[in-house]
Amino acid sequence: MVDSRRAGVYIYVAVRLLRRVIFTTEPNLDVIYKRILQKSGQPLPGYDEIIQNQTLTRALKIYHYLQDRADRLNEYCYSCSDRLARRSLTRYVYETPWDDQEVEKLFCSDDCEYNYLYGGDFSYFICGKCEREICGQNPRNGWHIQYRDYDDETVCLKCYEDLILTNGVEREKLENGKIPGMFFSYGNLEPKQAGYREVLGFTNFFISNSEQTERFRKKALELMDKGRKVVIGYERMAIGGGEGYVTMFEKAEEKSKRGDRNALQNQGLDSG
Ligand SMILES: [Zn+2]
Ligand SMILES: [Zn+2]
Repeated sequence: MVDSRRAGVYIYVAVRLLRRVIFTTEPNLDVIYKRILQKSGQPLPGYDEIIQNQTLTRALKIYHYLQDRADRLNEYCYSCSDRLARRSLTRYVYETPWDDQEVEKLFCSDDCEYNYLYGGDFSYFICGKCEREICGQNPRNGWHIQYRDYDDETVCLKCYEDLILTNGVEREKLENGKIPGMFFSYGNLEPKQAGYREVLGFTNFFISNSEQTERFRKKALELMDKGRKVVIGYERMAIGGGEGYVTMFEKAEEKSKRGDRNALQNQGLDSG
């Protein structure tokens, strides 16, 4: 009686151990899938859609994270200097109209970009002629203004130089009491190369009062009345332009029609 009870206990323990061994051994994946498929039967309606949406949301999250990480640069924002700049907010501008290369400006946000480019002491402007974005004042050269108004348009100094060497300075500005001009290269190379000659008595002309301004303006307008083009080179100028030295240049207006005649001659030659 005691033995059969003991045997019963042994069998009970053996079965429990066996079950534990069977169920704790990892079954292979095929077996698990089959078991799940058998149990689950038909998927619930909308189940696939939910899984797809979840997958999409996760994929987007990863994508945005990677994009954000790739956008972060290892340099600080030029405006606030305490946040890292973002690649997508990099702006390309010119420091002077004479530069061939743009420079990079790095920012962390739209606000920082705006404050730096348009909110500070030296705002950037877009030249109406060459369409480049250029600093309004030269950061390397005494903060000279790097743009002029020409025909109601803001143009950079380089374009302004081309315009006045071609057409002479604006008569309207002279009539309004101004002395329109610009700094050329040392020795006023550009007007000389464009065929302008210095006007006797008006080179390195010192202007500090209205009398001198009048004399200078009168001479320039006189030359224009005679059909001459006038260009004015700034030599030295007090900060703010209150007084300074200027040089007047003049050049005869080209007699036109020459180009047209050449064109006609060429046309004749070419058609032969
Ligand atoms: Zn910033
Ligand atoms: Zn320009």
